[in-house]
Amino acid sequence: MVFNSSIRYVDGSLRIDDVAVAAIAREVGTPTYVYSLKRIGANYERLREAFAPLAGQIHYSVKANGSLAVLRSLAAAGAGFDCVSAGEIDRCVRAGARAEDIVFAGVGKTRAEIAFAVSQGIGWFNVENLAELSYINNAAAAMGADAVKVALRLNPQVTANTHPYMATGHGAAKFGLTADAVGEILTRTSDFSRLDFAGIHLHVGSQLGDTAATLTALDAALELVAGHPRVRTINLGGGLPVAYRFGDEQPSLGGLVSQLDSRLRGYEVLLEPGRSIVADAGVLVAEVLYVKRQAGQVFTIIDASMSELVRPALYDAHHEVAPLRKTIGETVRAQVAGPVCESADVLARDRQLPRLQAGDRVALLTAGAYGMSMASNYNARPRPAEVVVSESGAEWRVSRRRESFDDLARFEK
Ligand SMILES: *Cc1c(COP(=O)(O)O)cnc(C)c1O
Repeated sequence: MVFNSSIRYVDGSLRIDDVAVAAIAREVGTPTYVYSLKRIGANYERLREAFAPLAGQIHYSVKANGSLAVLRSLAAAGAGFDCVSAGEIDRCVRAGARAEDIVFAGVGKTRAEIAFAVSQGIGWFNVENLAELSYINNAAAAMGADAVKVALRLNPQVTANTHPYMATGHGAAKFGLTADAVGEILTRTSDFSRLDFAGIHLHVGSQLGDTAATLTALDAALELVAGHPRVRTINLGGGLPVAYRFGDEQPSLGGLVSQLDSRLRGYEVLLEPGRSIVADAGVLVAEVLYVKRQAGQVFTIIDASMSELVRPALYDAHHEVAPLRKTIGETVRAQVAGPVCESADVLARDRQLPRLQAGDRVALLTAGAYGMSMASNYNARPRPAEVVVSESGAEWRVSRRRESFDDLARFEK
């Protein structure tokens, strides 16, 4: 059974590229995240090629997975980066990214973060508040920086077809500026002598079920900037969907690109995909601790929880469960739950799974995005180790060791 070009069963054993996941779990223990750098590179290339007709740059959205090993690999492949905090900018710089390939987005940038970003000489600010423009302008003046590029983030007041927590472009969302505000700012750009108002930014949501909201938002943006020839760049944000369920189709990018192409002639196009680059390149490996039959149900309790992977609890997200050793035969309807003291700590609900026993190991698939980057220490659980399988697919290494109890106590006195 093949899940994607890197993650599949070979002779009944789950592999990531050339490496048996069971071999990693034996040495590193569980729970552990494992990422295929080969698959991440292939996903990046697939997007780069599909969007090549629009001739823009791809800025990988760091919040999806900010592992330094992942960032280094993408920087080496030529990717730019979309950051939503100074901490993320710092990680990108550490990973070898060029400052001009970094964009800084976010609805609540502090003045300290803005000063840090200007001092680093980053490529773009995606701006979401009028006052933010003054802060950036002042920071630039203080540091002698000129022509700092800003893209005004338009809230197009469209509701994307996705989970409510992943929709960001509707009128009630905190994100972006209204069309009126954008229009007004574009008539008074001379108030901000250090800024180059070269772009418009859109990001209508994540895991978008269709392209309608994106195209509606884009049309609104193009109408707004029609009289402003300085705006040469349209940043379309992220949100490209990922196949989380067996049988889900990976959406074709060709259709979207051709719909965009006809509208975007003459503009530079930027993209900020996160999930679509890293999600299906990562798994969370866990061990079955107990199998409990109770109230007519089978609870499979594993050693991973909502602390390591919060998406099911937060978004009712679906992650397929694959045993590291493929079993055939009888299956059973089960709840795969973690040890954390919350009823929401169920990682897979009502799944038809092979009969698992204590000691068996499983992988939660498509966990490379918004997994480790959203992990917490809730219930005083040390965050898991991270392992990367190399770009060649042949080697693996621990890229972040498992946290210890000392790590958990380190900042307290
Ligand atoms: C989260 C986010 C992204 C990335 O979204 P994905 O669904 O992971 O592609 C891109 N741009 C902005 C502004 C974001 O907030």
